[in-house]
Amino acid sequence: MHPCSLTCGVLNIGNTVDERVYHLIKRIPVVFGQLADVIDVKACLINDISLSMPATAYSPIAGGYFPYPFFSHAALFKEQADKKLMKMDKHLDKVLVVTDKPLAGPDGRIYGQADVGGPYAVVTTHGLYDGFGRGNERLVLEACYLLGRTMGLPRCDDARCIMHPAEMLADIDARSAFCELCARVLRART
Ligand SMILES: [Zn+2]
Repeated sequence: MHPCSLTCGVLNIGNTVDERVYHLIKRIPVVFGQLADVIDVKACLINDISLSMPATAYSPIAGGYFPYPFFSHAALFKEQADKKLMKMDKHLDKVLVVTDKPLAGPDGRIYGQADVGGPYAVVTTHGLYDGFGRGNERLVLEACYLLGRTMGLPRCDDARCIMHPAEMLADIDARSAFCELCARVLRART
């Protein structure tokens, strides 16, 4: 069986593109490489210039940015990128927005949000870097969790699984790979 091919565009919003983003782009296909018989994930950078934050996203009460306005931004850039890619008979399947600004959910700060089963996700580097050198990998693990959610994977109870939701950094640090159950779910869906 040939693996299903999936291209993820990374859209950097709110900060300059730096080595964190390049590391992320390099690592996403490697993490999904564990599922290489099912899915072949490629990642590319959509923008190389700094983009401003969506004005409607900020909530002074929540002290952060709500994730959904980022999806409208992502849709706009996906459309533009797809027009260029169409000439090569390609398109973006997913757009992952990366920002360094705090994100807010209904119950407080969040590391990211996915459009479950849809094309968009947003992840923040805010709060992932605590000076112990794990920040880059945390960004990768959270991004892969969110991409898994866009692929329709449910949240997983296994704390070592990438699809285990994270409320704190220790939850992200506990993740190592997709568990066998999640791998089976993805195999059944593709
Ligand atoms: Zn799992």
